[in-house]
Amino acid sequence: MHFEWDWDRLNNLQNKQTFVVVFGDQLDIHSVALRDDGKPAGLVWMAEAIEEAEYVWSHQLRLAFFFSTMRHFREELKQAGYEVMYREISARKKKGEGYGLMEMLEIDLRAKKIKRVRCVRPGDWRVLDGLRKLCKRMKIELEVLEDKHFLMSVDAFGDWAKGKKQLVMEGFYRGVRKKYGYLIREDGKPEGGEWNYDSENRDSFGKDGPGDKMSDPKKFKLDRISEDVVTMVRQRFSCHPGSLEHFNLPVTRKDAETYLKDFIANRLKLFGKYEDAMWEGEAFLYHSRISCLLNVKLLDPKRVIDLAIEAYRNGKVGIESTEGFVRQVAGWREFIRGIYWLKMPEYAKSNALKCSEKTDVPGCFWDGETDMKCVADSMKHVIDHGYAHHIHRLMVLGLLAQLVGVHPYKFHEWHMGMYLDAIDWVSLPNTLGMSQWGDGGVVGTKPYCASGNYINKMSNYCKGCRYDPKLASGEKACPMTVLYWDFLGRHEKQFEKNIRMKFQIANLKRKSVSDMKMIKEEAARVKIELLRKPDLG
Ligand code: SF4
Repeated sequence: MHFEWDWDRLNNLQNKQTFVVVFGDQLDIHSVALRDDGKPAGLVWMAEAIEEAEYVWSHQLRLAFFFSTMRHFREELKQAGYEVMYREISARKKKGEGYGLMEMLEIDLRAKKIKRVRCVRPGDWRVLDGLRKLCKRMKIELEVLEDKHFLMSVDAFGDWAKGKKQLVMEGFYRGVRKKYGYLIREDGKPEGGEWNYDSENRDSFGKDGPGDKMSDPKKFKLDRISEDVVTMVRQRFSCHPGSLEHFNLPVTRKDAETYLKDFIANRLKLFGKYEDAMWEGEAFLYHSRISCLLNVKLLDPKRVIDLAIEAYRNGKVGIESTEGFVRQVAGWREFIRGIYWLKMPEYAKSNALKCSEKTDVPGCFWDGETDMKCVADSMKHVIDHGYAHHIHRLMVLGLLAQLVGVHPYKFHEWHMGMYLDAIDWVSLPNTLGMSQWGDGGVVGTKPYCASGNYINKMSNYCKGCRYDPKLASGEKACPMTVLYWDFLGRHEKQFEKNIRMKFQIANLKRKSVSDMKMIKEEAARVKIELLRKPDLG
């Protein structure tokens, strides 16, 4: 749709004195903030702030992806008839002189004598708090609108959560499916007879691996805007982690749709079956890699779900894959956003396992240098693509961080910097909550702790590794397995009463005192090795 400026409207003082602030993860052309009564709501303000690139040590590809998608959105807005004030990243500024997003906004609010700021809810509590404080101090009216991109509003989630002792995703997810009629038959029952096909979505590959059944995700060439951004990131952020060699993602709404359709046509069919599988050298397998496009709002979740369900109705995709995919988008994604806004800001301080604030992520989380095959390969995906699929995140890198005792907020900060799809609302509950169990059971009822045997079952990593996943002592002892028993030993008292940890604790109790002493000593040595800072030159 092409919007023309309404000059009468523009001459209206109220409109001219309004900034519609669009943050880097809000590239939604249908955003409710952009239009007021069917007309452009004001001057659109966007900025690339140095602070946002540096407050966590951001991956170079993450920076390029954000700046490129933002600059393409600026062009989309202009073509749609919006007037845009866009601040490209400036020469180095000090704090207090336009370094931060709010400082940049303040400078422009003063210069343009703006009386009103309008936006949809930011994806980060820190940004919303900063915006509220700035507008209050400057006596500027602030209008924060509910982001219609999401399927459930923050208030609706709050109503659902009210009075519940434990917030269980499954109940919430069924409610979303009923509300939108997703995979619901005419008789009100779930499509295929079951609400959840998780148990059918846990296959590993046989010894031959995924073979040639797979097609790689579609790649996109860089246009002039992206090339300029890549040059700028290479010049300005060369000391940041990660690589720019594999920047081939869509950065426009049109290309994002093409990318989505390619996934639905070529990989959704086997997504469910191999959702949890890993294979050396394969970053994407049957995963969609659309989370970064959803999270900057180049893709709409309703459209994504509709296309997946259409493929199911046309007989191209089975119910297990379709339901597994719908559960991720309509269930998990919405659930953790609800948790975030329900629990913030206290949530960020949670540290249920009492990890030391001094314990940061292992050194190999920056450069991938380790003999642990599972970690080295997962880190290669992160360094090359700013991405790793959910089992690499949860059951390799997240698992190692948890077993080592990394502070949950430090793990979240690392995740925020290294992944293209990490926005605070999605990263914090997934890392601090689900992965590290820092919230003590808000998101997941038990910690996702496992030994090297789990990784051996779900991948081919252990075959080529110098360690043996079964061993917890000796030269070939697998660090995951050593740290797993040490972790259970450290937290035995805390988990004893957790019914879902019953078998793990029972197995721990079978270990002799001398075995546990040896494991403790080995774990201390492994931790020293892992937590050594990397030499990044
Ligand atoms: Fe990872 Fe242990 Fe397997 Fe090596 S043996 S790949 S460290 S789980």
